[in-house]
Amino acid sequence: MPRIVCPSCHKKIHPPDHLAGRRIMCPRCEAVIVVPTELVEVMESASLGETASPTEEPPFPPAARLGITALVLGIISIFLLCVPFGSYLSIGLSSIGLLLGLGGLYRARIDSEPLPPAVAGGVGIWGGFGTRVRDYPVGGITACFLALILALWPFLYQWLSKQWS
Ligand SMILES: [Zn+2]
Repeated sequence: MPRIVCPSCHKKIHPPDHLAGRRIMCPRCEAVIVVPTELVEVMESASLGETASPTEEPPFPPAARLGITALVLGIISIFLLCVPFGSYLSIGLSSIGLLLGLGGLYRARIDSEPLPPAVAGGVGIWGGFGTRVRDYPVGGITACFLALILALWPFLYQWLSKQWS
């Protein structure tokens, strides 16, 4: 079914197939719109069919996605430390991120799904970091661990100074 956009009010309209090539009235602004014919749709799907598989990147494997989530949580946690009273939230977030990262690392070990070729082939400025699936969870774990250490540092410092004095 072709989807058209009203040229005057930009409302998205899904006209039924049997109206192809006919004029319809926009339900919102009552402008008259010509529904594209089947031919347009057929040509579109044909060109899509030719190019869909090579251009569409395979999705990131779950392990890498878990790692990226952990990395994002870790970075957010570090930023939260700069906010007053953000440290409690930061500890919570980085703990979740740490667990996600560990989960991702575990997944990366049990199933070796390949990364999208564009990512796996791009050995870049980070010396190849990010070209293996396990790099993502490892990065996430590092960020969350760093955030946790930073958040807990005042307590750690107190505890350590008690031990040494
Ligand atoms: Zn309209």
